[in-house]
Amino acid sequence: MALSLRAAASLPAPSLGLPRGRRTASVVRATASPPPALNKRNSPRPQNVSGEFFVDERCIDCATCRWMAPEVFKRVDGMSAVAAQPSSDETRTKALQALLSCPTASIHTDKPAKDILQVQKTFPLAIDDDLPGVYLCGYHSESSFGATPYLIVHPEGNILVDSPRYTPRLADRIEKLGGARYMFLTHIDDVADHRKWAKELKCERIIHSGDVMDITADVERKLTGNGPWNIGTDFELIHTPGHTEGSVCLLYKPLKVLFTGDHVAKSEESDDLNLFRMYSRQSVTLQLDSMRKLLDADFVWYLPGHGYRIRYEDVQAKDSAIESLLANYTI
Ligand SMILES: [Zn+2]
Repeated sequence: MALSLRAAASLPAPSLGLPRGRRTASVVRATASPPPALNKRNSPRPQNVSGEFFVDERCIDCATCRWMAPEVFKRVDGMSAVAAQPSSDETRTKALQALLSCPTASIHTDKPAKDILQVQKTFPLAIDDDLPGVYLCGYHSESSFGATPYLIVHPEGNILVDSPRYTPRLADRIEKLGGARYMFLTHIDDVADHRKWAKELKCERIIHSGDVMDITADVERKLTGNGPWNIGTDFELIHTPGHTEGSVCLLYKPLKVLFTGDHVAKSEESDDLNLFRMYSRQSVTLQLDSMRKLLDADFVWYLPGHGYRIRYEDVQAKDSAIESLLANYTI
């Protein structure tokens, strides 16, 4: 499957490591209002429908808003745009959650949203009734190209999965849920503000030694070899090299959930699994081998680093999808 840069953007540029400037629009985010002086890049995209919400030209097409508030945001001409203004309190809340999560602060309201403080308190955000204690952190980071950070609340110690953008507000919310004992980093692309979080929460960070570089040199626990490794009795860490040498998935066994990082995700355009080979920086062959390894794992949910979640009816359906991917893949 040939993917253009933009077509692949539901698992976009983490492995490209595109150097982009850190945002300077924190004030814009806090007030949910447009910046006082719009320039070409943070002005509204003409593809937005008119109304309260709009997306600006700095959108990096990470798709976060599109899966968080699909009733409002769509992909138009290679970037997100407001396709329909919120028509209910529920969709408005989702749109504001997307605004807070947007890694480039590219979502705005035409005047300050009075309920933004209330919406900030919805994070960490529960995902599904069948996933008790599993949350979206929101506040995606541009440095990880909008990767999705998660929080698992667990009696043996909470686990942050990859790094949100650091904000004291989110830190306060996480601390109210018991803080974090661990920060599990799926791979080098999605480490974002890990040092700030480790300092704030005093959590033990975990990453595979294959992805130890200058920015992760001080991580407390470095996995070596091929694993698997365990965190307590409920979590297994599965080495899935290919996207990067140190890519590791986290299996939450009781809930049958796999946190995949960038190892595998779903295409935005279909329900098929996708390895996003153009971003496979180590080896597509190894990434395929790592998919075979997942045939032995007992799970029905994929919670990916980028893009859309997948839930299968049962483990057999999960395995069929992997077998279909392997059977149809040509290197
Ligand atoms: Zn990556």
